[in-house]
Amino acid sequence: MNSTQNTDGIFPRGQQTSPDYFTGTAWLNVLVPQDETGHYTIGNVAFEPGCRNNWHTHPAGQILLVTEGKGLYQEKGGPARHLAKGDVVVIPSGVEHWHGATADSHFTHIAVTNLTAAGAVSWLGPVTDAQYLACQ
Ligand code: MN
Repeated sequence: MNSTQNTDGIFPRGQQTSPDYFTGTAWLNVLVPQDETGHYTIGNVAFEPGCRNNWHTHPAGQILLVTEGKGLYQEKGGPARHLAKGDVVVIPSGVEHWHGATADSHFTHIAVTNLTAAGAVSWLGPVTDAQYLACQ
């Protein structure tokens, strides 16, 4: 199957994400790369069931627009928020968090990520299985 083939969502799924920053399999399609018109980038991220990204922060925040499936969003020290199609998540600058699919569903969101001189994201450690399973 072609990696750019449109499988189950609005946009082609793009390229597989780095295992350095994700547990499980996810796909990133950069819909709008950084350019001179804005201080942001927009990407479509498709997570397979059980997949989540590492704990991380965004120097200037991020917005998630959920388009498919069932997912989870958790800020450090807080309860997990369950996500479904149509949900919007506004992530403040510098707040440690992760996002991904539930264990039993695929999940797709569009991510609008603000850019700074310090970049768009600072990656931290993986979400452990114990942390992840406690959120289901
Ligand atoms: Mn994020």
